[in-house]
Amino acid sequence: MTKVPNILLIYTGGTIGMVKDYKSNALKAFNFNQIKNKIPELNLLECNIHTISFDEPIDSSNMNPKYWVQITEIIESQYDKFDGFVVLSGTDTMSYTASAISFMFENLSKPVIFTGSQLPIGDLRTDAKENLITAIQIAATQKGDLPKIGEVCLYFEYKLYRANRTTKVSTEQFEAFNSPNFPKLGESGVHLNFNNNVLKKVVRNKKLIIRKNFDANIVILKLFPGINKEVVKSILEITNLKGVILETYGAGNAPTSKWFTELIQKATQKNIYIVNVTQCISGSVILGHYETSNHLKKAGIINGKDITTESAVAKLKYLIGEKIPVNTFKKAFETPLRGEMN
Ligand code: ASP
Repeated sequence: MTKVPNILLIYTGGTIGMVKDYKSNALKAFNFNQIKNKIPELNLLECNIHTISFDEPIDSSNMNPKYWVQITEIIESQYDKFDGFVVLSGTDTMSYTASAISFMFENLSKPVIFTGSQLPIGDLRTDAKENLITAIQIAATQKGDLPKIGEVCLYFEYKLYRANRTTKVSTEQFEAFNSPNFPKLGESGVHLNFNNNVLKKVVRNKKLIIRKNFDANIVILKLFPGINKEVVKSILEITNLKGVILETYGAGNAPTSKWFTELIQKATQKNIYIVNVTQCISGSVILGHYETSNHLKKAGIINGKDITTESAVAKLKYLIGEKIPVNTFKKAFETPLRGEMN
């Protein structure tokens, strides 16, 4: 007989944990420890569910690395007691948070499933119930007596994704997330089907390593036609700046004007790490494919390939925080660490 899995549900905030006050029409947080009263179906799941909530749940717009560490420390302190973890968060910055958590855990051998909802749990048409129930079922899925999944995922509207491949694509539709450059890890229909070919191989018998240092000195610089020298210069000359996510056009292209090329060169010479990430929703940077990315390649900027901006932010903060030596930094960033890029 397989053992009954223990699942820890961590509520950080967001719409999923809110109810509508029908008198005032405003959304307010409810006591998450009473979740089973709101969703009695949770009692029917074949697992033991324990809940823990941030003392003060936050809107995910207020999410930051301090909270990333808080979530990680909850999981770290309960890692041996539970078979899987479900993290409930607001959707707005969920892809950033879940990407960051994926870098924080090395040798993860248990599932960490992020989910949330577009409508509050108390709403008649809520998507919260399905998202929550299935996320718990996924976290509780076992292979033999061990968890089937050993990576950080995001489950939303019937689809399971690798978290660090996701991006929020809609404020309106229930299908709020997408993973444009990587296949779904699973899908929920009449049956819960996993895409076994793309699930990360679970690392067993390796010590869990947890990294908690994130450097704050990075910026996202999104190019647009007509961006001027003063703007680019003032961004690249920010005091203590250590990293830049340069959101380029198409397959990694940027203006070839002399002033732009020189500013980029100057920044890389000062050992500011510049990562080339495409503004396109899907596809990859191909450095040097067009003449309009050759100057970036020559300046030594980092190829972000098909990474999402969300994941690039987390990875850049993480690798700078880890104090990777300058001469190996480019290679470290261009190497997939948690399946975040091809
Ligand atoms: N503003 C909310 C948040 O991200 C939206 C949501 O939960 O979906 O916290």
